[in-house]
Amino acid sequence: MALFCDVALAVPLDLVFTYAIPPGMEPVVGGRVLVPFRQQRLSGIAIELHDRPPRVNTAQVKIKKVIEALDLSPVLDEQLLKLGKWIADYYLAPIGEVFRTMLPLSAEFKRSIAYRITDEGRLALQEERLRGATRVAKALLSGMVRKKWIAREDVSAARDAARLVKVAVLLAAEERAEAAPPLDGRGARPHTNPAKPTAKKLNESQQALIEALAASGGRAPVEALRSLDVPRTTLGTLVRRGLIDIVDEPQNFTASKLKPRQSPFEFEFSTAQKEALAKIGEAVASRKFGGLLLHGITGSGKTAVYLACMHEVLEQGRASILLVPEIGLTPAVAADLHQVFGDEVAILHSGLSNAERAEQWHRIRRGEARVVAGTRSAVFAPVSDLALVIVDEEQDSSYKQEETPRYHARDVAVMRAKMAGAAVVLGSATPSLESYYNAKKNKYALVELPDRVEMRPLPEVEIVDMRQEFQETGQEQVISRKLAEEIRERLDKKEQVMVLLNRRGYSPVVLCRACGKTLQCKNCAVSMTHHKRERKMECHYCGHVAHIPDKCAHCGSEYVYFVGTGSEKLEELLHGMFPQARIGRLDRDTVRGREDFEHALNALNEGALDMLVGTQMIAKGHDIHGVTLVGVVGADMALGLPDFRAAERTFQLLTQVAGRAGRGQSPGKVVLQTYFQDHYAVQFAARHDFVGFYDKELQFRAWMHYPPYSAIANVLIRSEKLDEALTWSGELGRWFEKTRHEGIRVLGPAAAAITRLKRDYRYHFILKSPSREKMNTLLRAMLAEAAARKIPRTQVIVDVDAVWLM
Ligand code: ADP
Ligand code: ZN
Ligand code: ZN
Repeated sequence: MALFCDVALAVPLDLVFTYAIPPGMEPVVGGRVLVPFRQQRLSGIAIELHDRPPRVNTAQVKIKKVIEALDLSPVLDEQLLKLGKWIADYYLAPIGEVFRTMLPLSAEFKRSIAYRITDEGRLALQEERLRGATRVAKALLSGMVRKKWIAREDVSAARDAARLVKVAVLLAAEERAEAAPPLDGRGARPHTNPAKPTAKKLNESQQALIEALAASGGRAPVEALRSLDVPRTTLGTLVRRGLIDIVDEPQNFTASKLKPRQSPFEFEFSTAQKEALAKIGEAVASRKFGGLLLHGITGSGKTAVYLACMHEVLEQGRASILLVPEIGLTPAVAADLHQVFGDEVAILHSGLSNAERAEQWHRIRRGEARVVAGTRSAVFAPVSDLALVIVDEEQDSSYKQEETPRYHARDVAVMRAKMAGAAVVLGSATPSLESYYNAKKNKYALVELPDRVEMRPLPEVEIVDMRQEFQETGQEQVISRKLAEEIRERLDKKEQVMVLLNRRGYSPVVLCRACGKTLQCKNCAVSMTHHKRERKMECHYCGHVAHIPDKCAHCGSEYVYFVGTGSEKLEELLHGMFPQARIGRLDRDTVRGREDFEHALNALNEGALDMLVGTQMIAKGHDIHGVTLVGVVGADMALGLPDFRAAERTFQLLTQVAGRAGRGQSPGKVVLQTYFQDHYAVQFAARHDFVGFYDKELQFRAWMHYPPYSAIANVLIRSEKLDEALTWSGELGRWFEKTRHEGIRVLGPAAAAITRLKRDYRYHFILKSPSREKMNTLLRAMLAEAAARKIPRTQVIVDVDAVWLM
């Protein structure tokens, strides 16, 4: 029996903590333990059992004991533990916070606080000073804690997260027959059971309830029976009479309601699809790590390839994971997955509650679901015998977590596959520069789907130069004459239209014409956005909401103007131009949950909408065959941002949204409005030329020492106090200067592009190095320096492979 246990706790400290194991307790490595930490109880992961007493401070600090071992077997197996350690190391994240991200089990740990009366308190009680204090305010309790009459204790403990529902079960027919003959007398039994003298006739309500239950196969949730037109007491009566039983059952996970598309296996696979399948199949069969980049243009049938190879893996009794970028992609894919895999699939996405997430996690762990699909954190699904990981739209920035641990799910997927000896497939129409570069360097096998299915043509793209439109019409236009004309034509032909404007709200800026100032968020250095229907101003960065101003906050002038256009205003404008058209909108204001999303897509699919307006949410993945025109209204705003990935992102967005047109029988067209018509991102997107874009962008990256040629990290120093942020970044700046670090460029400190965000003032450094190892060594030294200077760990953010430099 080991004496000590090293525990990783989800606290922002780069340490593990050693606890003593009380006799008789048997924690397991990879299992959760409950331990005292400062004034709390925390659950952490046991990462090592050993007999080495902790050296430091043993004289003064008494080593604390593990309170409870929460698991009999590991919740993180050896491979996931190893993966967690790799993430902590690579992204410089506290290991306990990494494990917390990997385990969606927070629902199983209930925080609760108890108050225990102390001896002093008992004494006071005898003096009757505490009488009547059983239901008291927290402030009063705190007061008593200070007086040491009572002690506050954290008594948090594990609890079972499975949500149970009450289900009514109809007992076997014979048992019922014995209890009661049918009402109408037809087929009446020759005799009633004399052993059951209490048997009585069923009244109408009781009969109705029993029939309803029989009709639904003999069992139904109690909640569902409530909708029957019978008195509430009826069920209870039937239970007492032994006709119905009530049992607790785990609530079923509700599957996606999106109508499944054509079965993914009904058509003949194209030659290219077959080749892709064969290559992926080989990689899986080798039982060694193998990476493939599946570069397939929009509409080339990538999803069908994913499903087919996951199907093969399942037939071999092995497991696979499919990662999708965000909720937007999940409903259609979820419907397909359910159709192909039925109950064998577990779906994890951002719309799940903690309890639902825990439930799915347990199903996967028990081996009931060997096909897992989900967003970012699904890469940690506890499957065993992992054979294949697929990352769809691998370039998508939502794979990067923008809080600690700042991991990139695509890169973690590759590492997980390496550790498991599995195959990993990165799929995209517009691969990231990094992945395509890796494929070119033979780190991944490049597999291409160069044509759309059934040789459908890619849409023709027409560029409309908005500067010229302004000169010719004499005013700022949102919808160009060309786009209006094309929309009208489609509506006449009963075809469908999508219009992209990648900015939600009504107007993004409120400007004072008298003093020139704009309305800024009180927490962030950004403009507040006007939301007309909800009659508010909202900050899109921190969520702060304010009244719509009737005069300028700076000078009091009444000349405040709402400038610019968001998706809400675009919808209104289109309504005005095409009053008969049925127009829907998809953005974060209209989509509160998965249901809204599916609703809008279904409506478009079924022809209940003529036009769909929206932000990048409409650009991704959707496969709607009636759409023949895509209008792009301002998707090039990003080109003006100070971020080296601006061109890449714009190219990807334009290519993606263009890919929504002409996926059915009729060919598609794209009208691309832009103020940057000569920009290479716009030009290559219009020509559907990924390789052209890649070559050009790669030159720029080489020249500027950006990825894929250099590893980069963003180090952000933040504080609500401007002088603190300045002092700390100054100190670290001087430290970087005097530290010798060959082969690493350090830029900064500089004010971040968004100088203030969520109340914090922000300064940053950008590190670039061809050697990731050297870069991480320097970053570790920097963190040690920051700790020595008493800069709180939470105020120094290290973002390795940063995706946003804002
Ligand atoms: P991608 O993900 O590459 O954009 P999808 O996988 O969504 O493309 O496929 C586009 C459409 O073509 C879907 O409706 C799909 O069912 C269909 N499809 C896929 N493969 C074939 C094929 N071999 N023959 C006919 N239709 C196909
Ligand atoms: Zn003003
Ligand atoms: Zn804000």
